[in-house]
Amino acid sequence: MTPSDTVRIGLLTSGGDAQGMNAAVRSVVRSALNRGVEVYGIYEGYTGMVEGGERIRSLSWDSVGGILHQGGTVLGSSRCEAFRTRKGRRLAALNLILQGIDHLIVIGGDGSLTGANIFRKEWPSLVEDLVKKGLIDQKTADNHPALMIAGLVGSIDNDMHGTDMTIGADTALHRITEAIDAIASTAASHQRTFVVEVMGRNCGYLALMSALATGASWVLIPENPPTVDKWEERMCEILKAKRQAGRRDTIVVVSEGAIDKFGNPIKSEYVKNVLEERLGEDTRLTILGHVQRGGAPSAFDRNLGTLLGYAAVDHILSPDYGDQPQLIGMRGNRVTTLPLMDCVDKTRSVSDAIKAKKYQDAMILRGGSFNEAYKTYLTTVRTLPHPPKPGQKRLRLAILHSGSPAPGMNTATRAVVRLGIDRGHIMLGVHNGFRGLAAGNIEEIEWLSVNGWASRGGAELGTNRYVPIGRDFYDIAKNIEEYQIDGILVIGGWTGYQGAYALLENRKNYPAFEIPIICLPATINNNLPGSELSVGADTALNNIVDAIDKIKQSAVAQNRCFVVEVMGRDCGYLALMSGMATGAERVYLNEEGVTLRDLQSDVENLIQGFKHGKRLGLMIRNENANSIYTINFMSALFEEEGGDLFDVRQAILGHLQQGGNPSPFDRIQATRFATSCIEFLIDLSDNDSKKCAFIGLVGKEFKFHILDDFPRSIDESLLRPKYQWWMDQQEIAKIMAQPSPSIKINQA
Ligand code: ATP
Repeated sequence: MTPSDTVRIGLLTSGGDAQGMNAAVRSVVRSALNRGVEVYGIYEGYTGMVEGGERIRSLSWDSVGGILHQGGTVLGSSRCEAFRTRKGRRLAALNLILQGIDHLIVIGGDGSLTGANIFRKEWPSLVEDLVKKGLIDQKTADNHPALMIAGLVGSIDNDMHGTDMTIGADTALHRITEAIDAIASTAASHQRTFVVEVMGRNCGYLALMSALATGASWVLIPENPPTVDKWEERMCEILKAKRQAGRRDTIVVVSEGAIDKFGNPIKSEYVKNVLEERLGEDTRLTILGHVQRGGAPSAFDRNLGTLLGYAAVDHILSPDYGDQPQLIGMRGNRVTTLPLMDCVDKTRSVSDAIKAKKYQDAMILRGGSFNEAYKTYLTTVRTLPHPPKPGQKRLRLAILHSGSPAPGMNTATRAVVRLGIDRGHIMLGVHNGFRGLAAGNIEEIEWLSVNGWASRGGAELGTNRYVPIGRDFYDIAKNIEEYQIDGILVIGGWTGYQGAYALLENRKNYPAFEIPIICLPATINNNLPGSELSVGADTALNNIVDAIDKIKQSAVAQNRCFVVEVMGRDCGYLALMSGMATGAERVYLNEEGVTLRDLQSDVENLIQGFKHGKRLGLMIRNENANSIYTINFMSALFEEEGGDLFDVRQAILGHLQQGGNPSPFDRIQATRFATSCIEFLIDLSDNDSKKCAFIGLVGKEFKFHILDDFPRSIDESLLRPKYQWWMDQQEIAKIMAQPSPSIKINQA
């Protein structure tokens, strides 16, 4: 009655839509087809499964082309009451079995994943019912004894245990920060107060992180309600004090699920009225609503969806599938699988804790980074810092930038300045990098002078790629003594690390250098050792992806191939990640090299593709992919060989990659790095004043690496780390780009 000898995967998106679901859909389909396994799209979520027929259709390689940049879900989504009943699920089982499907990948929230698990558990009895009712025969039933499921979390709320990020949360954060940045400028112009309501029924992630990323004045989240009875009074007092201290904009971010300590909802309209009445200021309310679900997915969400989709197929087809359904998530840049229902239960325990008014428990359940972010937020938005403790040693800590500008440098500086001053120390800004340190271009930075820096691109302190040499060391040593500098934070890229290392090496000649020095990775190239990600790389990636989306749209009419060159020096991170996020068919990396044979084969693939209906080609090259086969060479080669079949255009994206305001992720990372760096400088000045280090994000952890190890951890001739974790993802990007010619797809 139904095919028995082939595995077929059913795929659905369910619950609220989230940007990046399409990337996951594309990835599931292409990963499965690459293994010769067919995927059936179940349209409109569980509704489609219950209704069957045309709602369950085979998906081809091409049917999921051109969807990466689209928000929402091409499969459609719904909330389906019928699936909550056994009768509905029996119908769903019948519809799947009629198509030979007994593997199911569900992309949705905790409700959708719970539904999938109930369905899985009931499957054998549902199949038995179908046989009894004569709807399927015993042989068919025997062919489908069990349902294999895997879950991906698509939800903008980022509320699921078991994954650092849910698909859609990063994009929602983009939408919110864009809106708050825009509101902040008008609020500052008119000294107005704005209340901004963001989504998150039981989860304050979007509210907290957007407040942290924009430097908003106040935040209300469900997990941590105001502790005082008359919170309105306290909030107004503090906001008034901020205004008096010179802050021009007042922005209060309210999570839609915000509550007071008694569990009563705090509605954004109410907050607006309170502020208007008590502050006597013109107060406006903006409810962001569905804007947060809208627009093109961020680079991160596209790549997250792609990696998780690939892993879901890998898992569901694995002989080690096991008897517990798994949730496929991401922990510290690595895909993980965890028992699905444990994750759902732990997720629900947060809302249960909130309901039971056990707010401390709710915060603990949210995890370390959430709590740390909350603490940092509270410090950085204080009206004024705590005064120094009587008799405390007030360190004089200098901050300088080095390297090309990286979006997020200002965010890191603001955070470190405020965290340092709040701990009673004196923060010194060095203008123009190591040159400024040698020239004595140094001044104290005040608490209020970094207002607004959280969201500002560029580098207010100035930055350049100058590395100290010769006489500079003498001048720098003199200034360290003159300004009584107790520690230095270098925020920057390669030259920052080189400069810091040069000071370390010159300690024997200049005892003044025997102070702690810490390097914070900030470069769009993501080419620094000891950190999987550097501040600025995410913004650059989003800039590239935005530009390529536009470039692709410009080519609707003709058969055209674009060759796009992106930055990165000898490091291919931006090229590979932007290639994966934009659906490039080929990415050229310095790490891999480019040969004439590669180019010949690429030309052949392009010709075959355009002959068989392709209308758009996209090749991305890292700027240093190959010094002979330049972008001009490649474009000319493709143009010549393409003949009348397609034409070729090239685009060198250049400095737009370094510009713009930092992405929310870069702001959050910059702030988190800054928090660890200030701790390092403060703690070590007392204990071990000789230590110098570079900080990095490794997996989920912030790690300090001894600066002496800098030369050992890099490939000096290529200016990149010896180990680059993201190279593992190259294989997946290749699989997404084109079907392997050796794969025979068993497709209807
Ligand atoms: P979001 O986070 O966007 O709300 P969600 O997946 O949690 O997403 P829900 O409305 O809870 O959204 O669930 C979506 C659908 O999943 C429901 O309409 C229903 O069809 C199915 N579902 C949810 N919970 C169950 C359940 N306990 N049993 C069967 N089906 C369920």
